[in-house]
Formats: sequence, C-alpha cells, structure tokens
Amino acid sequence: MLPVKKIDLHVHTTASDGTFTPREAVQKAAELGLKAIAVTDHDTVEGHAEAGKAAAALGIELVPGIEISTKYGVAVHILGYYVHGDAPGMRALLDWIVADRDSRNEKMCALMEADGLPVHYAEMKERFGEVIGRPNFGQVLVELGLAESVNDAFARYVDRGQRYYVPRTILPIEQAVDAIVLSGGVPVLAHPFQYRKTDSELRELLTLCMDHGLRGIECRYSGYDAEKVSYLERLAEEYGLLKTGGSDFHGGNKPHIQLGTGINGELDVPCAWLTVLKKAAGISPAAKEKL
Ligand code: AMP
Ligand code: ZN
Ligand code: FE
Ligand code: FE
Repeated sequence: MLPVKKIDLHVHTTASDGTFTPREAVQKAAELGLKAIAVTDHDTVEGHAEAGKAAAALGIELVPGIEISTKYGVAVHILGYYVHGDAPGMRALLDWIVADRDSRNEKMCALMEADGLPVHYAEMKERFGEVIGRPNFGQVLVELGLAESVNDAFARYVDRGQRYYVPRTILPIEQAVDAIVLSGGVPVLAHPFQYRKTDSELRELLTLCMDHGLRGIECRYSGYDAEKVSYLERLAEEYGLLKTGGSDFHGGNKPHIQLGTGINGELDVPCAWLTVLKKAAGISPAAKEKL
C-alpha cells in the first residue's frame, strides 16, 4: 500500500522570515511527496503567486494563507486561510503592519550601527524584501560571526530584553480576526500551547475570538506530543471548531523543523482536515478547479 500523503498548513518563505523562496518551499514539498502546503507568511500574501504557479506545475495544492501577530496578554498568532490580501480592509491593515515593522526594524538597525555593526536597513530591504522579521536580523548577525545560529542570535541580541530588541506595535486579537473574516478568509488560532495559558484562559481566548468569527484551532504542530494534540482536538470538537496542523517551517532560520514532518517526524496532518477547511472557506472542489 502506498503511504498516505501528508499536508503541511503552516509554512514560511522568503516573503517573510523563512529561507526558502516560495518556489523552493513548494519544490521541497513536492520532493517530500506532500499533497498540499499552505504558505502562511507573517503579515504578507506576497508569496502566494509564485508558490501557486510552482504548485500548479508540480501537481500539488497550494493553500494561500497568512499569519498575523496579535496581542491577548501575550503575543498570540492568528492564521488566516484563503485570505484576499487585496480586500480593502486587509490591504490597509497589512500596509499598516509593514510600516510599523519598518519603523521598528530601523530602530534595531540604528542600535546595531551605534555599536559599529554594518547592519543597514536599506541593504536588508534590498535583500529580504517587504516583510523583515527578527530572524532576518539573526541571519545577518550569524553572517557577521556574532552568533552561531539564528537561535543563538535571538538569545544574545534580538530576543525580548536583549541589546537590540525593539518591540513592534501589536494589534488587538479581535482586529486581526475581524480583518481575516472580512477579507473572505478562515481565521484559525495558531499553536495554542505557545501562549502558556491555563485551560480556562485558553477557553476565554477561544470564546472572545469566536465572537469575532474564529473558525479553527491549529491542533497539530511541531513539537506537540500526543497528549497535547488530543487535548487540542477535544477542545476543537467541543467548540465546533475545525482542526488544522502544520510545521511552522522556516528553513534555515529554524533548522530543527522539517517541512511536512516537524520535529522528529512526529507531525502528521490528515488530508481530510484540508477538505473541511476548504468547505469553511466556501471553496467547493468544482470552484477550486477554476481558481
Ligand atoms: P518579529 O515578528 O520580527 O518580532 O519576529 C518574531 C518571529 O521570530 C516569530 O514569529 C518567530 O517566527 C521567530 N522567532 C522567535 N524566536 C526565535 C528563535 N529563537 N529562533 C528563530 N526564530 C525565532
Ligand atoms: Zn516566522
Ligand atoms: Fe507563529
Ligand atoms: Fe509561523
């Protein structure tokens, strides 16, 4: 019997802070025999067109997505599947987020320049494109020989509390969920165990987000063991939310995470979850043919 094909609904590319271009990410997915991947870059839909073309050529399915950072006590990430980046509300929101990132990033560069480091924002924009995140600073610091890995660069320089850390303005969670819904997308709570919430805090968060149209929970994620996964799946079922799963692949910026299989090959996202997700987005198989 042929092995059941896998999917991965959480992938970053060079459109944000991954190291694989959208085309390379799709090529890698095809090499691994994945059936579908979602490109979910931070704050941008720039990678969709290139990834979509590569996916069509290679016979795999590309799910257009996004990941937006929000605040609910701590930083909480919301995934948006099948968002239309050019819907008026979404375009304005993404432009605002990118402008805020630019101003934060310029401040981080100024701190590095003041220490005599040759880290210049114009050059970073040229190299990394529209959406630049701290992992990109990490890459540069590694290249300058100041850190051994991106993870090490975070610990030494760019994590909260470190020398070159400057915060971004983070949106209230309701605003991100609203914007995804209004742009025709399906909002999903990303990696719920990252927020160190108790069961009752997580339930409060779900209730608030569902009031704004939250539709799903990312139940399978790199590093989540069977116990965590079954807790999240039960929660999704209890609240009538759909389930998604993905690796959060960032290429060399998170080298311990593999596309499709996560950490230690534990990740396994059922294809049936994508069928449910598409239904939630109002995409029938017939409509999909015409996309
Ligand atoms: P930013 O949105 O630019 O402030 O950067 C935050 C992003 O950095 C997160 O979304 C993660 O993808 C990434 N990140 C956080 N910690 C690390 C780490 N230790 N190593 C690599 N990437 C990280
Ligand atoms: Zn990232
Ligand atoms: Fe995230
Ligand atoms: Fe992510």
